[in-house]
Amino acid sequence: MTLIFLEPIFKERIWGGNKLKTDFGYPISSNLTGECWAISAHAQGETLIRGGKFAGMPLSQLWNEYPELFANTKKRPFPLMVKILDANQDLSVQVHPDDKFAQLVENEMGKAECWYILDATRDAQIIYGHTAKTGEEFKQKVAQNQWSQLLISHKVKRGEFFDVPPGTVHALGAGTLVLEVQQSSDMTYRLFDYERTDDHGNLRELHLDKAFAVIKAPHHAKTAPNESRKIGPNAYFTSIANNQYFQTAKVEITGDLELTLSAAYLLVSVIDGFANMNGVEIKKGDHFIVPNTLRKLSIVGYVTLIVANETPAH
Ligand code: ZN
Repeated sequence: MTLIFLEPIFKERIWGGNKLKTDFGYPISSNLTGECWAISAHAQGETLIRGGKFAGMPLSQLWNEYPELFANTKKRPFPLMVKILDANQDLSVQVHPDDKFAQLVENEMGKAECWYILDATRDAQIIYGHTAKTGEEFKQKVAQNQWSQLLISHKVKRGEFFDVPPGTVHALGAGTLVLEVQQSSDMTYRLFDYERTDDHGNLRELHLDKAFAVIKAPHHAKTAPNESRKIGPNAYFTSIANNQYFQTAKVEITGDLELTLSAAYLLVSVIDGFANMNGVEIKKGDHFIVPNTLRKLSIVGYVTLIVANETPAH
């Protein structure tokens, strides 16, 4: 058994741009491409397997029919999703529910996510958190339209990362290119859209009541320890996020790395460089799964990977 590559799919967004084409080299024509769904079994956009004996198969089918590849014990949907987001304009300010709220109110999964900043223009900012001490204070500030006092902006640069648990007020800002690992969910409550209107003069719909119900106050900035740890003579490992749903890390290899896996299976995105992995060429823009049937990895090359796995149940 070898690596299982996925064919990314692309989503036009009003805030999208062309960096997925110019930076990642994906063959897309639209200059308003906001999202690359790189590894997804979600009904809103499912990736298919590229090449090999499973070529053309949707990821959900592989998950359901070949559980031995994932060492999964429970019957449930594929839990994670990996995306690349190109924010050419500011995204609306939003918040996601947790599993409990989402299952009760929406019959969906909740959404924890984390961001790795792939690239950022000089002035690029994100919204991450708010200043209100309580939910009541948050509502009051919204009623008084005091968004600039309420929302916390951060300047960002390449290589930074942010853990975005459910209940975190957040938004990508113009000029950010981000790799996102998240729960497989599309549940988003929009709080504020900078009072922008569409071609017909309409405001986008907001979901204030649901957002108020799920926002955590006060905000706790959750930043993973970002020290890089040497995992071989030519390789470094940096944790990006570690929560109850997923563990995400950056792995930088300059030469070679031999690795024995403990995670049941691994989602891998190549964000820079190229290498040979167990006899297969991998390069920037590739996304693949290392199945449970493959336990030893041998990598030779100059390559940066973002890897993610399900957090094992305790
Ligand atoms: Zn989000």
